[in-house]
Amino acid sequence: MSAALTRHHESSVWLRGRLADLATRLTTGQYATCGHLHAGDLAGVAFWEPGFLMCERCARPNNPTGDEKWTCDRCGTVNPDDCTSVATMLADNLVAMFGLCTACIRREGVVTPDDLRTELGGGR
Ligand SMILES: [Zn+2]
Ligand SMILES: [Zn+2]
Repeated sequence: MSAALTRHHESSVWLRGRLADLATRLTTGQYATCGHLHAGDLAGVAFWEPGFLMCERCARPNNPTGDEKWTCDRCGTVNPDDCTSVATMLADNLVAMFGLCTACIRREGVVTPDDLRTELGGGR
C-alpha cells in the first residue's frame, strides 16, 4: 500500500509521515467514510481529518471552514494570505487534500503556487 501511495512523488519526511499514517488507517480499517463510496470510486481524504474518506461530491462542501481553511497542515501556521489548497493524487482512486504555506510548498518542493493554480483551474 505505501508503495502505491507514494509512487507519484519524491516525498519529504513530513509527507511520508502523513502517508504512512494514512496507509495504516486504510489497511487496519481505522477510518470512516461519507457512506457514498463504492469499490473503484474516487475517494478524497483531508490531512486535517485523516480518518474520513469522502466521495467527490462530499469533498467539495467539506472543504475546510474557519481557521482550518487557512492552516498550513505542515507547520501549523494560520495565515489567510498565505495558504494554498493542494490536492494530490496518491493512488489511482485516492486524492489527498491539504493546505501549505508558501514556505512549506518550497520545503516540500512539490510544485510552485503557479503550478498549483494551473492544476486547480485558477482558483483556490
Ligand atoms: Zn459522499
Ligand atoms: Zn507551512
